[in-house]
Order: sequence, then structure tokens, then C-alpha cells
Amino acid sequence: MQIPLARPDITKRDREAVLSVLKTPILSLGPKLKEFEKKFAKYVGRKYAIAVSSGTAGLHLAIKSLGIKKNDEVITTPFSFIASANCILYEKAKPIFVDIDSRTRNIDPEKIEAKITKKTKAMVIVDIFGQPADWGSILRIAKKYKLKIIEDSCEALGSKYKGKNCGTFGEVSVFAFYPNKQMTTGEGGMIVTDNKKIAELCYSWRNQGHSGRDKWLDFIRLGYNYRICDINCALGISQLSHIEKTIKKRDWIARTYNKYLGPIKGLIIPYVAPYTTKMSWMHYVPQLSPKYSRKDRDIILLKLRKVGIGCRDYFPPIHLMPPYRKLDCQRGDHPICEHISERVIALPLHNEITEQQIIYIAKNFKKILWKN
Ligand SMILES: *Cc1c(COP(=O)(O)O)cnc(C)c1O
Repeated sequence: MQIPLARPDITKRDREAVLSVLKTPILSLGPKLKEFEKKFAKYVGRKYAIAVSSGTAGLHLAIKSLGIKKNDEVITTPFSFIASANCILYEKAKPIFVDIDSRTRNIDPEKIEAKITKKTKAMVIVDIFGQPADWGSILRIAKKYKLKIIEDSCEALGSKYKGKNCGTFGEVSVFAFYPNKQMTTGEGGMIVTDNKKIAELCYSWRNQGHSGRDKWLDFIRLGYNYRICDINCALGISQLSHIEKTIKKRDWIARTYNKYLGPIKGLIIPYVAPYTTKMSWMHYVPQLSPKYSRKDRDIILLKLRKVGIGCRDYFPPIHLMPPYRKLDCQRGDHPICEHISERVIALPLHNEITEQQIIYIAKNFKKILWKN
């Protein structure tokens, strides 16, 4: 049996939507771009949506739009996909990592205040694996210290914190559509905000700093090519139309995993906080109990792969990767993140997984743990 870790769910209608764009002469900056943005803004519940070429491009523009610049300090989590910290370095600001909560694996609000200095301007807060960050506490801190918030909701499309959508907590929030996310456009991302000025800047930066007026080559500021083409947008529109079905299926998979993996000794199933009123699972990531080492975990990953089970170590600590080591980050800086990173195992999560496959995964997991 071969069970991939992730795979996009592309329906017949998705394929038809893509083909229909290819029958028109407008492949970029066309009607599908506007339609995608409009429908996405409505789904998340924000005034503006700006589609871009990737989640990373979206995070970069989000950082710029809040005026973050050289030597500013930006608080963020070390337990995430590296893009959530890289965007801070793009503008030569300084990422200040804060350790995570051992259960939710999101940034720990109780450790934030000790890291705030006169130079702190903003926080990049990630909703990891689809679980919302502790927004109540985070918004209180942001208000007290007048810090701006960028929400990296790239993993949390459809999740809710106390009934409120992820992607509505940041002054600017960002989503991503890489093929392993809950929905995909191949490559792509979306910036959402209620701030008109920020939205206008992002529309402009996305397209080389264009004025937005009906005039060709009317560039009024330094911008980028962070455009996404209409072919991708058509796929996005179609994928968004069945997102609730996808979220439900992934939730069923997570609950089925819990049922079969829950009783296995040495394995800790993912925690869902009471404030998470809707969980849109991006990854299903159980952890090995503390008695296992990183070496054990790496051997277990290999053994799982050997029996056809796709799996990965989501995520290694960002602060221990070379671009951050250079900034004086070192082992021991964020012990909870490091402990968890050494023990996580992301398991297959996509629309085609069956109960039978989950039983197969649980059976093999048990066998492998027994021998370790
Ligand atoms: C996927 C993801 C991104 C953006 O990824 P792209 O590949 O650039 O679209 C950013 N942050 C997190 C936490 C992600 O999971």
C-alpha cells in the first residue's frame, strides 16, 4: 500500500474551469482574478482580498504594508513553515522568536511580553496546522503595546476561533494555495484586509507598482511581479466552491485517526483547544512521547515510509536553520519548540484517505513503536 502524505483534490469541474480560461485570450489580470478575490473576501469575511503568486509573496507585501523596516523587531513563532519568518528578513527587520505552547503548538502569549522592546513593531502570528492561535490573549497584548498584527493563516482556511474566522484577526492576514493546503491554485496566495490603503498598496506592489489607473505602464512606486494568472484563479474559484466539503472530509479523517491512534502507547494525538470552534485541518501531526529521542523519531519516519506511509517531520525549528543561526539563534533558545520538533510525525491527510488506510497506518505505527 502507498499512501501519500498529501495530494490535491482536483475535481472534473476544477479541470473544466481551468480549460475554459484557456479558451479565452485573457490569461492574466483578467476577470477570473477579480472573481476569485471577490469570492474569497466574502468567504473569509473581509473587505478586500488581493491574490498573489504565493503565500510567501503575500507575507512579504503584508510586512511592507505595515511599514516594517530595517532594525524593527517583529515577534513570531519558531514552530512554523520558514516563510512566516523569512518575510521579516526580506525587509531587513529582526525576527524575535517566542517559544510555543506545548499543547496547541502555537506561539505562547504568556512568553510574549518579556520579548517586547522599544523596537518591537509587529507580530507575525501563525495558526499552525489549522489551529487558531490564542487570539484573545494576543489581541490584548497587541493593543497594550500598540503592535500591528500580521496573521499567517496559510494553514487555517475555514478554521474558527470562538466562532470567528481565521484570517480576520490580523490587520493584514495571508492565505496560501500550494498543492498540500486545504485548497490549491497550483501556486498562489491571498492577502486579506479591511484597510483600503493597505489593499491599494498591495494591488499596486503586486503589479510593479502600477497606479491602478486605466493607463498602461503607469508605474508610480517600486513594485514586484507577484501576479497570479487567471488559469490559477479559475482553479481557485472552483476549489473554493467545494472547500466546506474538503474541510468536513479532513475533519472526519482526523477524528478517525484519533480513534485508532489514541489508544497507542507512546503516541500523543493532536490537541484541539476549546476555543477552536471549527478546525480546518492542514496537517495531522501526532507526537511521540518524551521517552523517544529525535533519533528514534527519524528511524520511525523511515520505517513508516518503508511500508508505504507518507510522513514528515513538520516542523523543524526555524531558529535552528542556517539563515537564523547567523542571527545568533541557537539550540536551547526555545526548548518547547525544540522538544516538539524532535518528536512530531505528520501523517497522510487528503480527501482520498479511507478508514481502511487509517487502520493500516495505526497497525503499522503500533508495530514500529513496539520495536523501538
Ligand atoms: C504554506 C505556508 C506559507 C506560504 O507558502 P507558499 O508556498 O509561499 O504559498 C506560509 N506560512 C505557512 C505557515 C504555510 O504553511
